[in-house]
Amino acid sequence: MTEPTEIMLTDRYAATGRPYPEPSTVCLGQCEGMGCVPHKDNPEEGGIFQQLWEEEHAEAHKITTRIRNAWRFEFLPLGSRFAILWERCDGWHFVKCPDCGGTGKRPPGGFDADR
Ligand SMILES: [Zn+2]
Ligand SMILES: [Zn+2]
Repeated sequence: MTEPTEIMLTDRYAATGRPYPEPSTVCLGQCEGMGCVPHKDNPEEGGIFQQLWEEEHAEAHKITTRIRNAWRFEFLPLGSRFAILWERCDGWHFVKCPDCGGTGKRPPGGFDADR
């Protein structure tokens, strides 16, 4: 008997169980309706994404967070769960999209209303 070692994913919306974005309401920021944006550690660049990254990075590597992540998906084989428990930071994290606050949607009234 062979265990599947790789999960084939159609796209990131299906992969994360999110609905496809509605063109009329989708966030116009960098998240493309995902509500989160991948960011690599870049202290020299600074800015809002780096700030969000620092917060995410601090949270993501706590042992409690690792355990939660390792057991989050039912389909993960045991080996993958242990890999998550022991993974080292590769510098990348998904940070909450600063434009939509993680909803993936345009705020009512548009983005510039409260700036
Ligand atoms: Zn990290
Ligand atoms: Zn967004």
